[in-house]
Amino acid sequence: MSQNVNVVEIFSSIQGEGQFVGYRQVFVRLAGCNLECEFCDTPSSRTMVNSAQIEKTAGRRDFQTIVNPISLIELSNYINSLLVIPHHSVSFTGGEPLCQAKALAKILPQIKGRIYLESNGTLPTELELVLPHIDIISMDIKLPSIIRQEMWQEHSKFLRLAATRNVFVKIVVTGSTNTKEFLKAVNLIASVDENIPLIIQPVTPINNCEGVKPDTVLLYQEQALSSLNDVRVIPQTHKFIGQL
Ligand code: SF4
Repeated sequence: MSQNVNVVEIFSSIQGEGQFVGYRQVFVRLAGCNLECEFCDTPSSRTMVNSAQIEKTAGRRDFQTIVNPISLIELSNYINSLLVIPHHSVSFTGGEPLCQAKALAKILPQIKGRIYLESNGTLPTELELVLPHIDIISMDIKLPSIIRQEMWQEHSKFLRLAATRNVFVKIVVTGSTNTKEFLKAVNLIASVDENIPLIIQPVTPINNCEGVKPDTVLLYQEQALSSLNDVRVIPQTHKFIGQL
């Protein structure tokens, strides 16, 4: 395991989004991203960083600063040491964790817990490298008006691969979401499997981002339910309970 990884932070907390909301997880936030979303909620993770903040004791916020890049052996030791108390899973997040897929493929077999991947769903070739080691995939579908480019083909390939695991899809909606794009995303999911859960996530209205109106959210859910069997609306909960 000679490869190194650029890490932003590692800590234990509560999953605040999606189908597994409320579960205790170790979060491993990797640096780098292939997209430039409007309203990015982790802008400091989009590029490589000089050092990582790593919690020494799960949930105690006693962070130590470790210089990047970190060797795979060191990284797996940091992660596994937080798993001494029970956790549901280890969430690899970002940025976009698949930007470091080759290193991930080597480290995942060393982790002593379920693996949960949070991805923007646009790097199917990289997903293939790590797929055998992944238990749960939280896949975003990024609407073109948010990322200023179309990624439908990439999303479709990604979801077909991800559907061989436990996968759910998350779509963030804002006050300026394009309804046609939202419906195209719903159809894309249904074309793979109508039983794949869809989480509609109303954007947290910060950074001048326009929140989505309550009646519009109901309409989105109703429209999605005409093609999919499991459609839920879940906001980012960790932000209003003061969790990282
Ligand atoms: S994919 Fe995630 S980290 Fe990358 S720009 Fe979009 S919101 Fe930010």
